[in-house]
Amino acid sequence: MRHIAIVGSGPAGYYTAEAALKQWGDEVRVDIFDTLPVPFGLIRTGVAPDHQSIKAVARRYESTALTRNVRFVGNVMLGRDLSVAELQELYDAVILATGAPHDRKLGLPGEELPNVFGSAAFVGWYNGHPQFAGLHPDLSHQTAVVVGNGNVALDVARILAKSEDELADSDIVAHALAGLHDSAVRRIVILGRRGPHQIAMTPKELSELAKLSRAHPVVDAADLPPVEADAGLDTGLRKSLGHLRAFAANEDNRPDDVTVEFDFFAAPRAILGEGRVEAVEVERTRLVDGKAVGTGETYRIPAGMVIACIGYQTSPIPDVPYDEQGGRFANEEGRIAPGLYCVGWARRGPTGTIGTNRPDGFAIIEKVAVDIPGDSGKPGRPGFDTLAERRGLQVVKFTDWQKIDEAEVAAARTGAPREKFVEVDKMIEATGRV
Ligand code: NAP
Repeated sequence: MRHIAIVGSGPAGYYTAEAALKQWGDEVRVDIFDTLPVPFGLIRTGVAPDHQSIKAVARRYESTALTRNVRFVGNVMLGRDLSVAELQELYDAVILATGAPHDRKLGLPGEELPNVFGSAAFVGWYNGHPQFAGLHPDLSHQTAVVVGNGNVALDVARILAKSEDELADSDIVAHALAGLHDSAVRRIVILGRRGPHQIAMTPKELSELAKLSRAHPVVDAADLPPVEADAGLDTGLRKSLGHLRAFAANEDNRPDDVTVEFDFFAAPRAILGEGRVEAVEVERTRLVDGKAVGTGETYRIPAGMVIACIGYQTSPIPDVPYDEQGGRFANEEGRIAPGLYCVGWARRGPTGTIGTNRPDGFAIIEKVAVDIPGDSGKPGRPGFDTLAERRGLQVVKFTDWQKIDEAEVAAARTGAPREKFVEVDKMIEATGRV
């Protein structure tokens, strides 16, 4: 028997559990830990609420979760409730699948002003992550600046731009829907420090901007390279450029729309304001060897909110070696130390799609199989249960989550898939165990 602890119940965690089942069948017991009483990590709190088809992948994780050799251990936080060393004493392998839930900092003057957010916080707000449910963004100014040219910037811009009707069949939480209902935001400026050929946005996500009911994208044709230059791009990027070119050429835009404006070659240099955001100072850039270099030309965008969508970092865990520059655990192809591994964004940083985590999970289990060829006699599950009881931990099981799930589905507004609980206490209450 092998005892595996996976820390984190998002895509990387569940794909790794799936791989462990494939590798050892009935000869493995997998415990999947999560700080929250609810599973699926990024699927629940990261993926955009209007991308329900992407969220459907959770059904696959559910089939893994419901096998008797896999167990969900929710509401247990590594570092608070037990240490990595304690987990290692109990399990043959501890695999950190904790994702990258922390915002990278812009490192700009004014970043600490109220109404400047990182995307983890802002996305967490509209997705009902308990940590960010009380964010209360001030949406009373007509311009919002979104920094970054990745898919998260597109998610944030799209959610700000959509009408209430367009969000009706999403699982956006009630407080965010109410906040957006009262929103005065009419202009969303997406700042890219480099150019159209350097975007990290993907075609499908870009194409959604052209289908909004009361908003349209705006691209300055002068920012686009000559069309022949697109020929050397990979297929995805070439398609994305096709969308940007169509946005630039569109002359049928409705004049009263909310606008989603792409400002390329535009690096934020400071966030200005007295006690609140009033403007963003931007420096025009040009590309030198693929890098954005300031030209010295600056301008100000009056704005009331800034959301930095510039990537994420893994949260450090006491006693686990950390790669500061990479913003992830220090590791060699997933190995951190004997018996300690990482997978997914915690291993490679916040890149790739949800599906990228599947091969990642299978690869790490292959390594565990090589490193730990036989039964080590560790206590595994019963050992953790004893410790949990001794510490009085209020562990939430998968069957408890199913009750939370039922309650959320039952509370959904008309047309929506669910109304999420946004407080840990309320989630636990819904399990009926308190
Ligand atoms: P990302 O794809 O890495 O994009 C980050 C963007 O921020 C880049 O354009 C980067 O520009 C810019 N940036 C970084 N530091 C900056 C700074 N100091 N000032 C100005 N700009 C800065 O990250 P992401 O958007 O957070 O997405 C993370 C991952 O999740 C990606 O793999 C993404 O595709 C995935 N995702 C997918 C979906 C979907 O499929 N629907 C939705 C959301 C997220 P440079 O290129 O110049 O560094």
